[in-house]
Amino acid sequence: MKIIMLGAPGAGKGTQAKKIAEKYQIPHISTGDIFRANIKNGTELGMKAKTFMDQGLLVPDELVCDLVVDRVQQDDCKAGYILDGFPRTIPQAESLDAALAAVGDAVDYAVNVEVPDENIVNRMGGRRACVGCGATYHLVYAPTQKEGICDTCGAELILRDDDKPETVQKRLGVYHEQTQPLIDYYNGKGILREVDGTVAMEDVFQAIIDVLGA
Ligand code: AMP
Repeated sequence: MKIIMLGAPGAGKGTQAKKIAEKYQIPHISTGDIFRANIKNGTELGMKAKTFMDQGLLVPDELVCDLVVDRVQQDDCKAGYILDGFPRTIPQAESLDAALAAVGDAVDYAVNVEVPDENIVNRMGGRRACVGCGATYHLVYAPTQKEGICDTCGAELILRDDDKPETVQKRLGVYHEQTQPLIDYYNGKGILREVDGTVAMEDVFQAIIDVLGA
């Protein structure tokens, strides 16, 4: 099953994508995680991406598309995958579709996790990320066992630059302008599925399973 997760930054699509990947035993491919790993490792891609990410802007399509197209062609993607954070623009969606069509393939579902902007701003202020492994938590909704310390690897938690309030507002603007049009794009293809992202995490997950019909 090839699934795309859509939703505003902070809608919880990353959390849900991980759970879906686990349930269906398919790779979870997060472009945000790929960029953050590159930043951490000081690669050229990471340095280029960081200048955009820190400002709440999208990384240019040409730095993202080839990377994802290469990734989904790897062996572990044969039975499917879940894309989290890609595509974020119509040209990205078109380049993915073209790459898949070239091998007689297509995306099965685009799942949109709907959350109003007001909820997003509240949520992201409480989000904390691990400097070690990149795991994300929330001060209220998904707290760690020990405050400020990652449950998975024991490293320190921080408020990511791109989760700071002024950057969140900017990212929401970018989302509405560049990413939201993908909802119509996938609706037009008959593969859009929508779920309410404001309810409890487990209920969002169940709703996704229901719309995927699996
Ligand atoms: P995320 O963790 O998915 O919220 O991504 C964090 C940041 O990485 C975004 O705000 C963008 O700057 C960048 N990014 C991630 N995925 C993409 C993409 N598909 N296209 C452009 N920029 C991206």
